[in-house]
Amino acid sequence: MQAAPAARTHSTPQPGHALVDADLNDCLHTYEQRVRGRFAAVLDVLRTLSSCQHERDFAAQAQTLALQKLGFELPTDWLANAWVAGVDMAALHAHCLFQTVAQSVQQAGFDQSCWRARMPIGPQQWRDWGYHTLDFSPCADGRLQALLPFILRTTPAPHVWVKAYAGALFDVEHDVADWTQRELERLTGAIEGGAQLDYLKVAVYHYSSSAPCEQGCAAHGSLDEQAVQAAIERLVALQMAVDNTFGLGAAPQVLLIGVDTDCDAIRIHLPDASGQIHRTRFLDSATLYRSSFGMPAAAAQQAVQQALQRHVTELGGLAAKGNEAGLLALVQAWLIANFSQIEYVNRHHAGRYAVIGHDEAFVCAGEAVPLLHLRNQFYFAHLDTVEEGAADLDVGARIFQGLNVQRGLALPVLVHFTYNARVPGARERAVQRGLRVAQAIRARFSDLAERGLLHCRVAVSERQAGSVLEWAEHAVSAAAH
Ligand SMILES: [Zn+2]
Repeated sequence: MQAAPAARTHSTPQPGHALVDADLNDCLHTYEQRVRGRFAAVLDVLRTLSSCQHERDFAAQAQTLALQKLGFELPTDWLANAWVAGVDMAALHAHCLFQTVAQSVQQAGFDQSCWRARMPIGPQQWRDWGYHTLDFSPCADGRLQALLPFILRTTPAPHVWVKAYAGALFDVEHDVADWTQRELERLTGAIEGGAQLDYLKVAVYHYSSSAPCEQGCAAHGSLDEQAVQAAIERLVALQMAVDNTFGLGAAPQVLLIGVDTDCDAIRIHLPDASGQIHRTRFLDSATLYRSSFGMPAAAAQQAVQQALQRHVTELGGLAAKGNEAGLLALVQAWLIANFSQIEYVNRHHAGRYAVIGHDEAFVCAGEAVPLLHLRNQFYFAHLDTVEEGAADLDVGARIFQGLNVQRGLALPVLVHFTYNARVPGARERAVQRGLRVAQAIRARFSDLAERGLLHCRVAVSERQAGSVLEWAEHAVSAAAH
């Protein structure tokens, strides 16, 4: 078990929980400020441009301002004719957002170096605890898009997958395929030490403790019971699918996590001895944080461990595929790691986010942009085709109807797919898939597209390197759609 550093920084005004990593919180706060600052600058610059678009030297002024404040240029032809009909602000807004995403991806190495070096749960830890792959399916909701580094303090790494679906209703067939591929790699020796390691599937639902009926999961009509039950059913379906196809006992280890999106506290539901996950039986990090507050680090650690043991006893045992110690160590690490996030929200957001509802800047459809981790920055729908992701996209579009479209801003959709550079032709196929998805999105939301209120761009990135977003097409203003 990774011990949390006891040393606290000078900038901490009051002593917090002994197991909280204040230095890591400082790193994450710097990251959050820096990336949010880039997105905030976009709105600032656009407001300024809006007020001076009819001036004689507008194009030159706009480029200077963009370069100075945003670090990139704007499409020249969009600015050149601004004095005639004004700038297409919705198009420019979407363009700047996408450029800012690309910039944040490109600078992620620098932006994230501080917190990546201090993450308590990394590849070595989960391998030690018996897992080669962590496959998360959170809800597509933007409030869960900081799940790994912030809420769970877990290193985003190549075999940590985040595939988000509205309501955490992940695609069972896709998961069987993902599991099968990893299992094949494991059996052929491609995973080092794979004989002792398992695949862990985690579904992540969410709820709002202060406004349960309004700010819960939109895909489940803010009905918490339904959100939890539906996630449990998907996990059971995945296990049955693998067991029925590959033989009893083959199914991956499963776990259910709930996130209180008001304050980022978590609930962990462990499967009981019979493998059943119960809707109302879980360990709650906020309760554990409070009950162990004020204790020295070792005592607090012990208190969490004892609570975990008591919980397992109450469940009548644990379905851990012979790896009870490993699973418990991982769960304990996540609960304790989340104490730091609880304190982060306490310190930087007064214990509860100012905006407890939706506040996303754009929709990401396809595969996750692996180097962007911020709460409420984007709504993420994992999909290969629009047909299969239609429900997720519709929920996203509904959210943006309120956030952007009502004030005349567009619905910005970034379509992103990754490719494997070792596979011949993979990049081109990823680009083609992206373009098809973008076309289908324009067709599905044609009412918005016709009014110039849908801006869709396609980017791909190499799966392993992943440090650059490569645009599949040039930016086009609304008039060209
Ligand atoms: Zn949701």
